[in-house]
Amino acid sequence: MKSCLNYIEGQWRLPETDEWSVNVNPAYPEEKLGRIARSTQTDVNRAVEAADAAFASWKEWPGAKRGRLLAAAGRLLEERADAIAETMTREMGKTLPEARGEVLRGAAILHYYAGEGERASGEHIPAGDGKSLLYTRRIPLGAVGLITPWNFPVAIPVWKLAPALIYGNTVVLKPAGNTSLTGCALVEALVEAGFPPGVINLVHGSGQVVGDAMLAHPRLAGISFTGSNTVGKLIAGTASGRGLKYQLEMGGKNSVIIMEDADLDQAADLVVSGSMKSTGQKCTATSKVIVMKDAVEPFTRKLLARLSAIKAGDGMQPDTYFGPVASHSAQQSVLSHIRRGIEEGARLLFGGGVPERGGYFVEPTLFAGVTPSMALAREEIFGPVLALMEADTLELAIRMANDTDYGLSAAIFTKSLESAMTFINHIEAGMVKVNAETAGVEYQAPFGGLKQSSSNSREQGRAAMEFFTHTQTVSLSI
Ligand code: NAP
Repeated sequence: MKSCLNYIEGQWRLPETDEWSVNVNPAYPEEKLGRIARSTQTDVNRAVEAADAAFASWKEWPGAKRGRLLAAAGRLLEERADAIAETMTREMGKTLPEARGEVLRGAAILHYYAGEGERASGEHIPAGDGKSLLYTRRIPLGAVGLITPWNFPVAIPVWKLAPALIYGNTVVLKPAGNTSLTGCALVEALVEAGFPPGVINLVHGSGQVVGDAMLAHPRLAGISFTGSNTVGKLIAGTASGRGLKYQLEMGGKNSVIIMEDADLDQAADLVVSGSMKSTGQKCTATSKVIVMKDAVEPFTRKLLARLSAIKAGDGMQPDTYFGPVASHSAQQSVLSHIRRGIEEGARLLFGGGVPERGGYFVEPTLFAGVTPSMALAREEIFGPVLALMEADTLELAIRMANDTDYGLSAAIFTKSLESAMTFINHIEAGMVKVNAETAGVEYQAPFGGLKQSSSNSREQGRAAMEFFTHTQTVSLSI
């Protein structure tokens, strides 16, 4: 069984107490995949101190030179895409093509930020006296903590690591426990690209132990987190209490509105892929679909036809549409949402159960007759469950879409520019799509939400510079 060690100060290291947890394949829970280091506060302290020590020289490297290492890491990810994707599929159940696509996306993000090394710049501002030089420059924070979830175990760490590193920060990465083997495979590729010791550090273990130790360390200069709202709020409380810069990307309850004039086949295809790909475990997954009354019957028929064609499997076979959810606790959580939907009076139109094959599977599930007060309309489920709602007008549909604490992504299907513009102007979401699925935004564009979905600056693209640098204003006259 593979041992997944910490990587600190340029070396793979055993955890201080020689304690381990074991990761299993969610499709075959009896299959043990590897043992994962359970780090202590001492391990985390070492990692933060290594990152802090390496910062002094890393920040002096020219951006273009840092970029060459990111590009080398991108090439290594491309070369290893098949192997890393297999690890990911075995560890969290995403299908192999999706996992491979994610690794290649990670590589593309590294190449994108490699170029940023030559582009990151401040601003020249005309000085009031007409003589001196007034300008801003971007300076790195220092040793930054990155805490990431299991649902995109390569892309999310990379879209934090790559901007952190290119702008001159050093990092301590804590990947989600149940995708630590994928996290190790990612860091192995990064390490081979030749980053100096201490620039990239990896610490496994309990989120609470590692997170608390990172946040308690006086040399940590910032923390970027993606995960649940519960944990995000804890991090925000501690980080703001000690004046630490933080960035949070959290949950979503993403709506799609279907107008009568929509191409219903296109809409049904993209609602199904948006809600069911990755077994619904995307923060941007389509979770409720609000359909204009006249389109409800034909659209529902099209949805049902597509849902019945979904083939579940362990993710390794080419014809598998979706795999298991990521863990036993994820399965139990999704099933409890389904039970609650039934108790609250929603009509179960499709699925709702667990196939007999074993493993942590949940059937693709469709509820109809969902009303705004039901949990199905308001809470994040993070599984293959779609809630169908009806509306008479676009204004009402937008109100129903906005009626949740989240505001990550939303979409409308329509051929009317007026409807599209009304939607864009009134929907409360950080990412807005017209005739496209809610899930996914290209990596060169800002990613993030409104309301309780996100906190502070955006990820991805040039927007990532906001979090990973400070602005320094310089007035210079000789
Ligand atoms: P999670 O339970 O919050 O875990 C996320 C990370 O936080 C993991 O590495 C976890 O470690 C760690 N953690 C747990 N407790 C902690 C604590 N007390 N202090 C510091 N870190 C702690 O979330 P998840 O279940 O992995 O991910 C699902 C959630 O992420 C969903 O709500 C989803 O919407 C959200 N998400 C958001 C985005 C976005 O960009 N908006 C993208 C993807 C996912 P352990 O694994 O060891 O517990």
